[in-house]
Amino acid sequence: MCDHLHDSTSRYDAAEKVMTLLLVCPTCGIERVVETLDYEPRPVWTSAGAAPSQLAVLPVESSIPPEMTLAEWQHRKLAA
Ligand SMILES: [Zn+2]
Repeated sequence: MCDHLHDSTSRYDAAEKVMTLLLVCPTCGIERVVETLDYEPRPVWTSAGAAPSQLAVLPVESSIPPEMTLAEWQHRKLAA
């Protein structure tokens, strides 16, 4: 890769469900892949560093009986 200043960018391939992180040289037009992540457009990241913790612990809504609050559900899950 050249010695120019590079921009970081990302590209999402919806067909492959892959997020690609790139470094791009605006002078040369060269792209270098930094990282690829399997990614689907829902709040679940395969990369632990990118996952907001409040999203990671949310249960699937349909698994909660309607009469039970979220706090109760979490309490039962922890106690089980
Ligand atoms: Zn360059």
